[in-house]
Amino acid sequence: MKTSVEQVKMCVGGEWITSKEHIEVIDPQNNEIIASVPKATKEDVLHAIEEGKTGAEIAASLSVHVRMSILQKAARILDEEKEEFAITIAREGSKTIKEATNEVKRAIETLTISAEEARRISGETLAFDQRPGSEKRIGYYYRFPIGLIAAITPFNDPLNLVAHKVGPAIASGNAIIVKPATTTPLSALKLASVLEKAGLPKKILSVVTGRGSEIGSVLAAHEAIRMISFTGGVETGRKLARKAGIKKLGMELGSNSPTIVLKDANIDLAVESTVSGSFSAAGQNCIGVQRIYIEKEIYERFKTQFVARTNDYKIGNKLSPSTDMGPLITEKEAIRVESWVEEAIENGAELLCGGKRNGAFYEPTVLEKVPENCRLAYEEIFGPVVTLYAVENLDEAIAAANNVDYGLQAGIFTKNIEHAHKAIHKLNVGGIMINDSSDYRMDAMPFGGVKNSGLGREGIQFTIQEMTEPKVVCFNLK
Ligand code: NAP
Repeated sequence: MKTSVEQVKMCVGGEWITSKEHIEVIDPQNNEIIASVPKATKEDVLHAIEEGKTGAEIAASLSVHVRMSILQKAARILDEEKEEFAITIAREGSKTIKEATNEVKRAIETLTISAEEARRISGETLAFDQRPGSEKRIGYYYRFPIGLIAAITPFNDPLNLVAHKVGPAIASGNAIIVKPATTTPLSALKLASVLEKAGLPKKILSVVTGRGSEIGSVLAAHEAIRMISFTGGVETGRKLARKAGIKKLGMELGSNSPTIVLKDANIDLAVESTVSGSFSAAGQNCIGVQRIYIEKEIYERFKTQFVARTNDYKIGNKLSPSTDMGPLITEKEAIRVESWVEEAIENGAELLCGGKRNGAFYEPTVLEKVPENCRLAYEEIFGPVVTLYAVENLDEAIAAANNVDYGLQAGIFTKNIEHAHKAIHKLNVGGIMINDSSDYRMDAMPFGGVKNSGLGREGIQFTIQEMTEPKVVCFNLK
């Protein structure tokens, strides 16, 4: 018997609409079709942009207390609906229910912080009289919203990464069109419905569902879009940058993050933290630990503990509260991860545990002696695979950690403050965590990378800086 699948509508300018063609949303754990969403056309996107132009004017005219109360109310509604949201995240993507529940908590915080930051958007008075001849001038600058923003988001945090763009956009008086990942569109659509219930005026927010390769360039190239706020892979980022023309770019891209463990470290803490940093969200995490550099004196002890802890990891049904790790986002992705591991092993790497695939599931996998010329050594794996390296000392660890094209975050475990300071200054990354793995993030901190890991910063008040511009006002009192 064929059961009918829920046809979820998309939100264009505040109206919930459907389209001729649909895209199925598939649970990667069992290939069950859990819903379908409209396959937006270029015309749908152009319509969203037209509505968004008016939305930008409406958004800019909302007073700060109104923006705050909409965001606070949205956070409350999200809290009331948290169980339902967690199930949606866990079903449409690859997170376990534990991980999904945590993501909803973080999204509530993201909206709450966005409400708070709305009242802190400020400027400053300027000392015009520093310039000879300007003694009679006084003035200031304030920050104004840039207008209409296109947010293009990935699958791995389908709610909180959308909240990280929508919250600051509303807080700063902008309109925004979200194009969520095609594999995980449901959380973003549910968030739009929460914001509607919270009183967000129509036209300020659209969520268009459709394939990035088909409709993304319409958003990227359109002159009415003043900023592309993108989170995703570096190749997509490059394509968007080429099409963007004159507009702001926020690029939150990938990485293959390093963590260093020195011989004076608390090894138990380092193991616990790097295991979870390597395998959370099945390794599909931009700051997930991919490379661990361990001083040779403690290498064997760390390795034994790390592998033992990894072997305890429970893979399985995402909806079971005792499961630690679910599947990858698609079987195709799991096959890619498997092939990168096989390439490393063929070239001399040693497999310490894991390495087996079952459909979209891929075991948490630990390797050592991965040769430099393998993709695993220098590219982003975006899967549950981590490599251990024995190093002579901190200098060697820093040089190796920096020897890639990415630089998002890094971690170091040490009790030595001089070593910590050396790592802080020499590691070429956007954030460094001392006695935590690279995988630590708090939603209000500035977040972003260097090199191919991106451009600009997120983390509500920093996103707001990117989404606003200073306007200078000067009174000539002569
Ligand atoms: P992706 O393939 O780059 O997709 C991201 C988004 O871009 C999706 O909405 C996708 O739409 C869209 N897209 C794809 N091709 C496009 C095009 N030609 N024009 C416009 N949009 C296009 O990335 P992903 O696989 O979803 O996510 C994984 C990547 O995101 C990893 O590299 C990860 O490190 C990175 N990431 C970075 C951060 C950070 O904050 N730095 C956070 C999370 C993830 P479709 O789904 O329709 O293809």
